Amino acid sequence: MNGDRDIRATPDLRNLAAREMAAAFRSPIIDHLRRHDFEIRSGETTIRLAAEFGFCYGVDRAVEYAFAARHRFPGRRIWITGEIIHNPRVNRHLDEMGIRFLPSCGSLEERFREVTPGDVVLIPAFGARAPEMAYLVDKGYEIIDTTCGSVLNVWKRVRQYAADGFTSVIHGKYDHEETAATCSQVLSACSDGKYLVVRDLREAEELADRIVRDDFAGFRERFAAAYSLELDPEKHLSKIGLANQTTMLESESRAIQEVLRRAMSERYGEANLAEHFRAFDTICSATEDRQRAVRDLLARGIDRMVVVGGFNSSNTGHLVEIASRSVPAFHIESAECIESADAIRAKPLGGDPILVRGWLPPGPQTIGITGGASTPDSVVGRSIERIMEIRGMPVLRSISSS
Ligand code: SF4
Repeated sequence: MNGDRDIRATPDLRNLAAREMAAAFRSPIIDHLRRHDFEIRSGETTIRLAAEFGFCYGVDRAVEYAFAARHRFPGRRIWITGEIIHNPRVNRHLDEMGIRFLPSCGSLEERFREVTPGDVVLIPAFGARAPEMAYLVDKGYEIIDTTCGSVLNVWKRVRQYAADGFTSVIHGKYDHEETAATCSQVLSACSDGKYLVVRDLREAEELADRIVRDDFAGFRERFAAAYSLELDPEKHLSKIGLANQTTMLESESRAIQEVLRRAMSERYGEANLAEHFRAFDTICSATEDRQRAVRDLLARGIDRMVVVGGFNSSNTGHLVEIASRSVPAFHIESAECIESADAIRAKPLGGDPILVRGWLPPGPQTIGITGGASTPDSVVGRSIERIMEIRGMPVLRSISSS
């Protein structure tokens, strides 16, 4: 029933999985950069790699458990309840290992129709919704739960809010797997649990304004699909507890917290605030580290930034958002997106991927590069090599072995 416990208790298996992961996702150029102050220079080009980038501890563990599962349960079918992480390269690798992906839409019966007794089901790093978990336990499948500890920490907070009669206000994307799972925890914590998801500071300011004016006309249309059905804004927003999807923009989460704290203070009085408002920063440390590393790169001076990660990766998108405030920033999924010095296939903020022309002009250039928390070294490394190729920098055999 608890395949993750089995794997945790078997160091040899985990070591084997770690070695296989290194073989699959290591990059000699990244190793070189780590040994050389995260920088390569040649001619008119400098490439600077962020000091914190790529696989976070939660993703690393989830992927390691997937590799270990293949050995722990030979001959048995292994399924994942959706993408294990938001990176196509990693998901393709698991697919090649024979690990199968379950559809993410439909009723539980429809989604798990092909799973049979004896099969193994992997829960990804961002967790699963409470009813889905209950269904899997009820069916008696072998479950490998790789839900990240930082996500579990958010769940603990919102469950406590629900138990204490506070409505959880969650900074996140209501259709993101992690936030959907967090919302389900609110509902499963107690029969009276309520939540509202706010996507960004603008939505939080609008909510704050409604709270201060005690005016919720049009609330349901405005926040459609982002709140629990039982939530009556006139009654249930008098006590709110804040949490966030772990991968949101740290600065924005803090600003949202402050905006809503002020609104509750104005509405109920500073002296009564503790009875009406709670907050806890649930951005994970890996997300904070990666965002801070981008700001550090910008502070050191770069001309443009390349951010490598799945186009559907929330944390990668936030790295692009930070960089694009200061320099042209290009969100790519892999080296294949870099067609030439003239053309790159990149995803603009909030849009679909497009072909951008003239992204890398001739002349002196310092290019910053980073990868989201679900991007393996091999994908970031290959992107660096591609930039080196098109800038005529000496690649790579000598570097790779140095
Ligand atoms: S981004 Fe943070 S919460 Fe999400 S898997 Fe990584 S470490 Fe865990």
